Amino acid sequence: MKAKVYKSTGSWYLVKTPEGISWNARIKGIFKIEGITSTNPLAVGDEVEIEPEDGSRERAVIQSIQPRKNEINRQSPSTRSQHHVVAANLDQALLICTLKEPRTSRGFVDRFLVACEAYHIPAVIVLNKIDLYGKKEQATEESWRSVYTKVGYAFLPTSLPQGRGLEAFRQCLEGRITLLCGHSGVGKSSLINQISPTLSLKTHSVSGWSGKGIHTTTFAEMFDLPFGGQIIDIPGLREFGLVDISPQELSHYFPEMRSRIGSCRFNNCLHVNEPGCAIKKALEEGIISEDRYVSYCNILETLGSPAY
Ligand code: GDP
Ligand code: ZN
Repeated sequence: MKAKVYKSTGSWYLVKTPEGISWNARIKGIFKIEGITSTNPLAVGDEVEIEPEDGSRERAVIQSIQPRKNEINRQSPSTRSQHHVVAANLDQALLICTLKEPRTSRGFVDRFLVACEAYHIPAVIVLNKIDLYGKKEQATEESWRSVYTKVGYAFLPTSLPQGRGLEAFRQCLEGRITLLCGHSGVGKSSLINQISPTLSLKTHSVSGWSGKGIHTTTFAEMFDLPFGGQIIDIPGLREFGLVDISPQELSHYFPEMRSRIGSCRFNNCLHVNEPGCAIKKALEEGIISEDRYVSYCNILETLGSPAY
C-alpha cells in the first residue's frame, strides 16, 4: 500500500494512506537507501510503501521509500558531516512575517528565500497584521510587495481582524503540501485556525508553533487541511541553515542576479568589488533592489567569503 509519512518520532512513523487511513509504521531490519547521508532515513512528507504487520490493522512495516522531489535539511547536532532531513516533497514553503509585533527583518526574509531556492522549493511571503501598520509600515509593505513580486515571489498581505487576504491565503494552501515558517507570534496558528477551524485543537496540542523556550525535542508534523492539501509544522524551526552554500553559489539563489551572472567580466565574480560586474551595474541602474543587494552581501559574509 502507498502511504505518506505524517509524523516521525525516531523509531515509529505515523503514516496515512491516500484514503486517509492511519498506521503506526516502522522500518524493519536494515533499511538501505542509496547514497543516504542523513541521520534519519525517513522524514515527514516521504512517500512510502507499507504492509500491515502480522495482520494488524494499526501497525505496519515500511517496505520502501519513493525518490524525493526535494527535501530540507538541518545539520545534525552531533555529527557535522551528517544532516537531518526535516521534511520532504514540499510543494511550497510559506514564510509568515509581520512588520509589527514582532517585526520580521528583511535579512531574515532574504535568508529564508535563499534557502528555498537552494532546496528548489517555491516560496511564498505572507505579510500578516497589516491592520496594525502606520504610515511607515505601509510604505515598507509597498516596498516589499514591489521588490518581491518583481523577483517572482508570491506576496500575500493578510489581517485577521479585518479579514483581509484570508481567501487568497486559503487558496494558496489548497491542494498543496506547504511548510509553514515564521517567528513565534506572527500569527501562524491564528491564520491556520481561521481557515481551518477543525485543525485548531490539534495544532494547539503539539507544544505550540514556535518551540521558543521549549527544550523538549520536537518533531515535524503534517496536518490535512479540510479543503485539500497539507501543512507541515516544525516546532522550533525558525530558520533553515545555509550550511551547504558556497560564496560562489550564493548569487544563483537570488533569481534577479541569477539571470545576469553570465554577463560579469569574471566568471568567479562575487559581485562585490570586481570590475565589469553585471550585478553592480544592475544595482546602479535600479534594476536590482538595494535592500536585496545588502542582504546578499550580509549572507555572503556569513558564508566566509574570501572577499571579506
Ligand atoms: P504564532 O506564534 O505565529 O502561532 O502566533 P499566534 O497565532 O499565536 O498569534 C500571536 C498574536 O498575534 C495573537 O495575540 C493573535 O491574536 C495576534 N494576531 C494574529 N494575527 C493578527 C492580525 O492579523 N492582526 C493583529 N492585530 N493581530 C494578530
Ligand atoms: Zn559580478
